[in-house]
Amino acid sequence: MTENHDLIKDNLCVLRSRIAAAAARAGRDPGSINIVAVTKTVDPERIKTAFQCGITDFGENRVQELVQKADILDKGYNWHMIGHLQTNKVKYIVDKVSMIHSLDRIELAKEINRRAEKAGRVMEVLVQVNVAGESTKFGIEPSSALQFVKDVSRMGNVRVRGLMTIAPLVSDPEDVRWVFAGLRQLLIDIRKENIDNVSMDYLSMGMSNDFEVAIEEGANIIRPGTVIFGKR
Ligand SMILES: *Cc1c(COP(=O)(O)O)cnc(C)c1O
Repeated sequence: MTENHDLIKDNLCVLRSRIAAAAARAGRDPGSINIVAVTKTVDPERIKTAFQCGITDFGENRVQELVQKADILDKGYNWHMIGHLQTNKVKYIVDKVSMIHSLDRIELAKEINRRAEKAGRVMEVLVQVNVAGESTKFGIEPSSALQFVKDVSRMGNVRVRGLMTIAPLVSDPEDVRWVFAGLRQLLIDIRKENIDNVSMDYLSMGMSNDFEVAIEEGANIIRPGTVIFGKR
C-alpha cells in the first residue's frame, strides 16, 4: 500500500522532470503540457494516489472501466475517453467525461451530438488521425481531416478542440517523430481555416515510450500510463 504510494509518487516526480527537460529542449513552457494519466487496469486506490500527487486528468480506453471508476472517483477527477468508442456506448459516458480523444467517424460525431444535447452539454472532442497510416489503427486519414472537422463543426453540441494520434510502437521513438510533426502541421493547417465552433488548441500525442519526442514536436496533452503506474 504505502510502497505502491511511494512508487507512483516517485514515478510522477521522474515524469515531471522528463517533461520539463523535453519542454526546455523545445523552448516551451512545461506548464503548457497537460498529463492525462492512463489508468486502464489500474485500481481506484492507485488512481487516488496519483490524484493526491496533483494529477487531475485520467484516461481510459474502455467504456465499462471508465464508468466504474468515474462513479467511484468523481469530484475533481476529469475523465478522458481515449479508446475506440462504439456508437451505442456514447450514452454511458456522455455525462462522465470531460473530453473524447477518439472521434474517428461522422456517425460517432452525430451520436455524441445527440446525446450531449439531451444531457444539456457541449462535448469537447479531439479528432483522432491515423497519421502513420497503419491499417490496424483507427482514425481519420490526414487528407480527410479538414473536411471532417468542417462537418463536425456544424453540430452544435460537439466542439472540436484539437487532434489526437497514436504513433506506431517502435523501439526508438525518433522513428516516429515524423508522425508527431505531421499531426502538428495538420493542426496548424486546420487552425488557419478559422472554422466556426472549432478551436484547434490541443495536440494529444505521446505515451510512455515516446512522450518526450511528442513534446518536442508540440504535444500539449500527453497520455502516459506505464511510466506512472508500472507495467500492466
Ligand atoms: C494505453 C494507452 C496509452 C498509454 O500507454 P502507455 O504505453 O502505458 O503509456 C495512451 N494512449 C492510448 C490511446 C492508450 O490506449
